[in-house]
Amino acid sequence: MSASSSSAGSTPAPSGLTGPVLVIGGAGYIGSHTVAELVRCGVPTIIYDNLSTGHRSAARATLVVGDMGNREQLLRAFREHRPRSVIHFAAKCFVGESVTDPAKYYLENVVYTHTLLEVMRERGVQEIVFSSTCATYGEPVRVPIDETHPQVPISPYGKTKLHIEHMLEDYTRAYGLRAAALRYFNAAGASQDGTLGEDHQPETHLIPLVLQVALGQRPEILIFGDDYPTPDGTCIRGYVHVEDLARAHLAALARLQAGVSSIRCNLGTGSGYSVREVIEAARRISGHPIPARVVARREGDPPCLVSGGTRARDLLGWQPQRGELEDILHDAWRFHSTKRNGMRG
Ligand code: UDP
Repeated sequence: MSASSSSAGSTPAPSGLTGPVLVIGGAGYIGSHTVAELVRCGVPTIIYDNLSTGHRSAARATLVVGDMGNREQLLRAFREHRPRSVIHFAAKCFVGESVTDPAKYYLENVVYTHTLLEVMRERGVQEIVFSSTCATYGEPVRVPIDETHPQVPISPYGKTKLHIEHMLEDYTRAYGLRAAALRYFNAAGASQDGTLGEDHQPETHLIPLVLQVALGQRPEILIFGDDYPTPDGTCIRGYVHVEDLARAHLAALARLQAGVSSIRCNLGTGSGYSVREVIEAARRISGHPIPARVVARREGDPPCLVSGGTRARDLLGWQPQRGELEDILHDAWRFHSTKRNGMRG
């Protein structure tokens, strides 16, 4: 589908947001929802994705298949499509894998982002919205976690994301780049039209795994520890709807295009839910008993990660519209129960 052909019936983009916008990793989970929102708002959009973890079927705009680390390929895309701005989602994002294979994370996250920033500099493209993460905070010293919380990541994954935040700050200072780093809490849910959703290989995230049990695709859900210092003993996380995340990217880009030079903010709802609460809510929504079994803790899981702070509201005018766990699970359930092969069929 081309961006221009799908802009019919569009609603205005936030604050006069203009394109073309090049979305690196726009065929992935959060990227594809953001592209869908850009297209819905009538913003000319191009996806640049190597389809290593993204899906062709998730591409909601013109797709250029290419590696972010391939400077020549990337330059060609910039020359051909002349983007005004970039939204950058492409990254390796498995915490466990980053511990066993950090080289891959430093190369694909940090080095390839450097390649992207250099191509942007060469082409005079000055605005970038970047997917950062609450993993840059590391072990919380206080909860909720606002943006002034110390950033001491414990995994190579979190470290690579923080390195990129630092690169963006230095490029802003030295070269006039305008950059937003959006620190997501737990992205979850699916598009309300049921066509886009979460599909990682392998899947490690709680909500899709719980729903796969409800669909009979897995026998049970394993609860990683019930001896945490939380009310029911299981870990608490702040789940945020992927369509809310998508809207925040447009709002951030609009602020950069209006001249704001640096944005660093959390994207979360301020609420947290335990693993048991997620499983209970999924039982209600799916009508399936969802067998669960407690096993040992997973290494590196802090007991509670919940966002605090008001920067997203103050700087971006952003507030979650589908912040309730029930809403998130409802949309995820619609996606998983109707598209049993996820984005692959
Ligand atoms: N979790 C679990 N069983 C699973 C997957 C996850 O108990 O099969 C827990 C995990 O320990 C964490 C929470 O669910 O406390 C959310 O994990 P997820 O991997 O979805 O996101 P993360 O917080 O690691 O980014």
